[in-house]
Amino acid sequence: MSQKPQLKIAIVGGGYAGLAAAIELKAQGFGGSATVFDARSFHQKITQWHKLARGERAATYELPFALLSRRFHFNFSQRRVDVVKLLADPERELRGKFSAIIIAQGSHSPPAPTGVWTLDALRDDAIVQTEVQNTTGKVITIVGGGPTGVQFAFEFAARGNRVTLYEARDRLLPTFDYSLGQTAEAEARSAGIEIRLNTEITQVEHETVTSRSGATESSQRADHVLFVPGVRSTPSITCDVSGRVESNQHPNIFAAGDSSYFSGRGLNTKSAQAAVRKGQHVARSVIAAAMQRPLPEYTYGELGYFVSLGPNNAVGYLLSQKTAFSGRAALMLKEATERQYNLYLAGLPVYP
Ligand SMILES: Cc1cc2nc3c(=O)[nH]c(=O)nc-3n(C[C@H](O)[C@H](O)[C@H](O)COP(=O)(O)OP(=O)(O)OC[C@H]3O[C@@H](n4cnc5c(N)ncnc54)[C@H](O)[C@@H]3O)c2cc1C
Repeated sequence: MSQKPQLKIAIVGGGYAGLAAAIELKAQGFGGSATVFDARSFHQKITQWHKLARGERAATYELPFALLSRRFHFNFSQRRVDVVKLLADPERELRGKFSAIIIAQGSHSPPAPTGVWTLDALRDDAIVQTEVQNTTGKVITIVGGGPTGVQFAFEFAARGNRVTLYEARDRLLPTFDYSLGQTAEAEARSAGIEIRLNTEITQVEHETVTSRSGATESSQRADHVLFVPGVRSTPSITCDVSGRVESNQHPNIFAAGDSSYFSGRGLNTKSAQAAVRKGQHVARSVIAAAMQRPLPEYTYGELGYFVSLGPNNAVGYLLSQKTAFSGRAALMLKEATERQYNLYLAGLPVYP
């Protein structure tokens, strides 16, 4: 860079996207200060969260912001920011003036019946975490056949639980091509997981789960219900191709990660890989804007995606979603993506 812009940047959310933005600002050698605001005191490697059901501790996958802020030279403020208020009046909500703001608050659980395990509870509730770590030999119902539901189903099944997995659509992993869902389904059946597709949960009361498939309603007893029918991002923030928030009266607000939708040809999946790339991208956009250069266009396209199927298996694809595969090769690639992220957080430039 010819001249380093002296910027004061706020990053709301220190997950995959927000942290990548902070790391990229440092990598680009920008000359100002960045402050990460996060409701939690630690970064969660949430893509490994299913391992709680393997008996592993949440702390294994948490990195304190105190450590990360020293490693990557940003300031940290533990605070929940109201993003709706921030979009209306950034200075007031952040209690200070910033030259650019990056919103990366991720997604959260949808409304759930009482007494079920939700993703938010899995992330923050120590009692739920302990229950999940110690659950063996129980009857477990999982609502939602996306990556989270599938990953937990295999972990619970591997520890001798009787698992039923409900999905409202006609296949597992419904946001991907049929090939991935069908491969996961075949593996689930051989792992003893009962799968109910095209089935919606209508009620969860005490230990009884009621579901409906077409006109047929049925009930099943469960010791525990994991309720993960997708995640919500509120507000979901629409951005231009550079990651800049559209239709906002403040021109220097950008967004990244699960809570953002970029226009153009780059990938918008709610995945850690896309979150990291979007975070890096908006950091470059912020610097380009400050230097009055044309803003770069987000063009990231995922090369592959892997979902864990218990301790010894995984499913995923490379290059084309139509050729999904499971088994040892998929497991090695899933573990390689986790290692890549660990190296990134150790300070190595593994996401060029
Ligand atoms: C169980 C599970 C398994 C997954 N497995 C995979 C996988 O194998 N591969 C893959 O690619 N993707 C996977 N994903 C998806 C991936 O984890 C997400 O797409 C990714 O975490 C999105 O990154 P993010 O930065 O947008 O959000 P997050 O990583 O969730 O980070 C958001 C951050 O913002 C903070 N925050 C939230 N609200 C506020 C607020 N109001 N004020 C301040 N801070 C706030 C949170 O504390 C958090 O630190 C998985 C997701 C889950 C839940």
